[in-house]
Amino acid sequence: MRLSLLGPPGAGKGTQAVRLSADLKLPHVATGDMLRAAIAAGDPVGIEAKRRIDRGALVPDETMVQLVKQRLAKPDCAAGVLFDGFPRTVAQADALEKVVRLDRVVLFEVAAAALVERLGGRRVCSKCGRNFHVRFAPPKAAGACDACAGALIQRDDDREEAIRNRLQVYEEQTAPLAAYYDARKTLRRVDAAAPPDRVYESLRRALG
Ligand code: AMP
Repeated sequence: MRLSLLGPPGAGKGTQAVRLSADLKLPHVATGDMLRAAIAAGDPVGIEAKRRIDRGALVPDETMVQLVKQRLAKPDCAAGVLFDGFPRTVAQADALEKVVRLDRVVLFEVAAAALVERLGGRRVCSKCGRNFHVRFAPPKAAGACDACAGALIQRDDDREEAIRNRLQVYEEQTAPLAAYYDARKTLRRVDAAAPPDRVYESLRRALG
């Protein structure tokens, strides 16, 4: 089974992907996480990408396609994969199609106003990457991850100006993928404005 979660930043793809990947035993391939790991490791790819990520722009297609091809070549991806945040452009989708065909793409639908609120209050664990929200999903102890006690931080691209850019980039470059996968009869939609458990139920139904 090869799946991809599609949707604007802040739609909850990451949160749902962690749960779905554990339940379906599929490797969770989150390209944003891969880039942040490359930055933390001081890799040239990460250093090059950081400027764009911090201002809410996309990393070039060639870089992303290369990164994903290397990841897909690992043995754990042989039987299936769960993409989170890839593809994000039609060029990436075309490149992916030459390597593997996606069985399902699930579009997470949420109104823009809710996204700004979700992203602005988001905090992430600097150690394990788990997401929290200052209002909607606060940690048990302020500033510390429930899972590993790592320090919670705000991503640079979760600041107001970058958020606005990311939403615009999504509309212009990523949203056209809904029609792309609809045409291939691969697309399913879920209402991602609902609470996380409800979204998860819709997601499982959408996957059949
Ligand atoms: P995310 O964690 O999915 O929100 O990704 C964070 C940032 O990483 C995005 O705003 C982009 O700058 C970059 N990024 C992640 N995935 C991709 C992709 N498939 N194509 C281009 N840029 C990406």
